[in-house]
Amino acid sequence: MNYKKIAISVVKGLYTVCPSISDYLKTDPDMIKKKILIEEPELSNTIQQVKSELIQMLMLFGKGGITEWEMAKRLKNMTNLSSGQANMLINTVLRCFSRAMFAESAKDMPADSRYYYDGPDDDLLRPECAEVMHNPKNVAEGFTLAEIADLPVDFVFGGGFNCRHSWASVASEEARE
Ligand SMILES: [Zn+2]
Repeated sequence: MNYKKIAISVVKGLYTVCPSISDYLKTDPDMIKKKILIEEPELSNTIQQVKSELIQMLMLFGKGGITEWEMAKRLKNMTNLSSGQANMLINTVLRCFSRAMFAESAKDMPADSRYYYDGPDDDLLRPECAEVMHNPKNVAEGFTLAEIADLPVDFVFGGGFNCRHSWASVASEEARE
């Protein structure tokens, strides 16, 4: 696996597919150290530093060189995020990283391969995730990548910030039974 390539695409995409993450870092002026009452370009630089650190940490994580807990601690040290916020952000990033690695391996699978949206089905479901979880097709035969592209959730970014869902291959599920 090319962890660097995957890490960069995850962190880049986080800010476009999950705008809530950049809002998270931008909206509260105390959120990032050194950034109180600063100009927008400097804010971008600081966010750039956070992004670089996230990429470095993901690459390390891919090689087993860092734990989720240590990642959250490092993020907390360079920002004014609370422990809870840092944990949630790192958890989101790691889930995206995990989906991105699955997406990478899916590239080697036949184009008609099917996948189902897996994870909790509870009261905390956001509408986008609920729509896919409760789609009869998800339960019955799964979706192709082309069909997933039309769904309100993403193959790599799931339902967005703090999404607890992942994609699984229908074929491998059958193979296990
Ligand atoms: Zn979700």
